[in-house]
Amino acid sequence: MYRAPISEIAHTLKHVTGLGTAMNNRSAGELSSDLLDAIVEEAGKFASDEIAPLSAIGDVQGTTLQDGAVTMPEGWSDLYKRWCKGGWNALTGPAEFGGQDLPMALQTAAFEMWNSGSLAFGIGPTLTIGAIEAVNLHASDELKSIYLEKLVSGEWTGTMNLTEPQSGSDLNGLKSRAEPLGDGRYRIFGQKIFITYGEHDMTDNIVHLVLARLPDAPPGQRGISLFLVPKFLVNDDGSLGARNDVFCHSVEHKLGIHASPTCTMIYGDGRFSEEAGAIGWLVGEENRGLACMFTMMNNARLLVGIQGVAVAEAATQKAVAYANERRQGKADGWDGEGMAPIVLHPDVQRNLLTMKALTAAARAICYNCAHAIDQSASEDGAHWSDRAALLTPIAKAFSTDIGCDVASIGVQVHGGMGFVEETGAAQFMRDARIAPIYEGTNGIQAIDLVTRKLPLSGGDAANGYITELREIIDQTRESNRQELAGLADALTPALDDLQVSTDYLLRRLEAGDRSSALSGAMPYLRLFGLASGGCYLAKSALASSDADFSERAGLARFAVFNLLPETTSLRRVVEQGAQSLDGAGAMLKTA
Ligand SMILES: Cc1cc2nc3c(=O)[nH]c(=O)nc-3n(C[C@H](O)[C@H](O)[C@H](O)COP(=O)(O)OP(=O)(O)OC[C@H]3O[C@@H](n4cnc5c(N)ncnc54)[C@H](O)[C@@H]3O)c2cc1C
Repeated sequence: MYRAPISEIAHTLKHVTGLGTAMNNRSAGELSSDLLDAIVEEAGKFASDEIAPLSAIGDVQGTTLQDGAVTMPEGWSDLYKRWCKGGWNALTGPAEFGGQDLPMALQTAAFEMWNSGSLAFGIGPTLTIGAIEAVNLHASDELKSIYLEKLVSGEWTGTMNLTEPQSGSDLNGLKSRAEPLGDGRYRIFGQKIFITYGEHDMTDNIVHLVLARLPDAPPGQRGISLFLVPKFLVNDDGSLGARNDVFCHSVEHKLGIHASPTCTMIYGDGRFSEEAGAIGWLVGEENRGLACMFTMMNNARLLVGIQGVAVAEAATQKAVAYANERRQGKADGWDGEGMAPIVLHPDVQRNLLTMKALTAAARAICYNCAHAIDQSASEDGAHWSDRAALLTPIAKAFSTDIGCDVASIGVQVHGGMGFVEETGAAQFMRDARIAPIYEGTNGIQAIDLVTRKLPLSGGDAANGYITELREIIDQTRESNRQELAGLADALTPALDDLQVSTDYLLRRLEAGDRSSALSGAMPYLRLFGLASGGCYLAKSALASSDADFSERAGLARFAVFNLLPETTSLRRVVEQGAQSLDGAGAMLKTA
């Protein structure tokens, strides 16, 4: 069973991101090192003792839909209530509405652990937090006063309604519409698909944030507005009023995250009121709905990225435990009775260390991204906001890709038992698969990285970051610890690959050759993740106390010598891959 790796998480937060420094110079609010340790420990306990034991039940039972009402798996409603009672939903919420205003970096770490307990559990609050941010940043004071406190406490959950059957990655085709009633309210009509926790029985009310078009709105993305549409209308005294005209038509049968209800939502078909149309209120300005969504996109994407880390950590723990129990064959160094534990076989060790190294690397990237988001409000905000923007697609896509890779290796380590459901290794693999798809597919993240983030500040955002990574290499070189010898020399080519690829892509973009740049986007994103992750593993070792040093140095060495050589082949794909796509696309066309 999963045990939250609290000391590793606290170490990464304090020493691999700038949060330790921020706490020392009092720029992390009230957060101190001791408070951080206490919160990480308690969040970890909840993940290990309360969430993880219900994960398999959620997977097997899934959710059920009857007459538009969704019932959660056994124990899940209570689990959610206990989680809210612990104040966990409110970690980063605005203090004015009952939140604790703590740093996003700490929240990201806590979400890692809760998601390790169950991805299906973690994704619900992830969306509520997105809704809180959208309302807090863009809604009227009146809407804030009605909804924010209950969203922050978790008494009500929030959803994000973007996707429609004809409009997924590309929201230009969005058709849902909103008709003004002339009194500040709107009637909303349309169908939204794949809405996470669109309906459930954990709370009395659900607050939907819905993208729709006003009459006469300009076509495309410039004509999309954002609306708040509650499941139940709220009376003046705060009590729940009439049922709004929105309902869950169906729930998807999915590959994984079975306990997370993925709903088709129908707005305004007259099922619950004489006059059709779900009542909604505008959030932000008319036709600026996508801009409102984008202001919270960094955070939502990061919290999906951390799902990749979370599932990777849980899969790794399970695989390591199994490899110590399962015995097969002979192995050097085994002088016990009978067959050797498979953990002694070099190939199994390679698999397990790959899992560990990728997980730690992705964790460091995500936490650094979270820290950059936190610092965006500081004096040096512009620099940090560029850094957050740059790291967000990498945190989302690299981490969720490695989540799938690691979960799949975990199945392999279990041999045949990995393929049967009993061990739980297969559930990790099934659950992990959604994270590269939702909150913007990883392909879309790579496009975002190359076309929007690399050109930030004329390329300075990316180049400045690479320079900082080189400083880690310099510190590694200057270290006189024997275990780190050779590490700096081996890290350097990975950063050279990153620099050369970055320069190449910037040149292609400047030349107007978008197509070449886009074909190399995905391999470039992986290269970026591997190179920066490798540097962070070295940084983690450098900052370790004697007790943990040799393990962290060993992991950094393993990653640098076994995983980072891939950056050279990725660089070649970035530079040369586009040529082979020319013409080859013809063979993919169906008649
Ligand atoms: C379990 C689950 C939960 C979800 N939860 C929510 C939710 O709560 N709210 C919500 O609004 N949506 C939600 N979604 C929807 C999700 O965000 C979309 O599925 C996702 O954005 C992809 O859209 P699509 O499915 O239409 O795929 P498409 O957009 O059709 O994409 C198909 C493939 O084409 C690629 N592609 C598309 N366009 C381009 C392009 N321009 N360049 C290169 N490649 C491209 C994509 O990367 C992908 O590989 C959820 C989906 C699932 C499965």
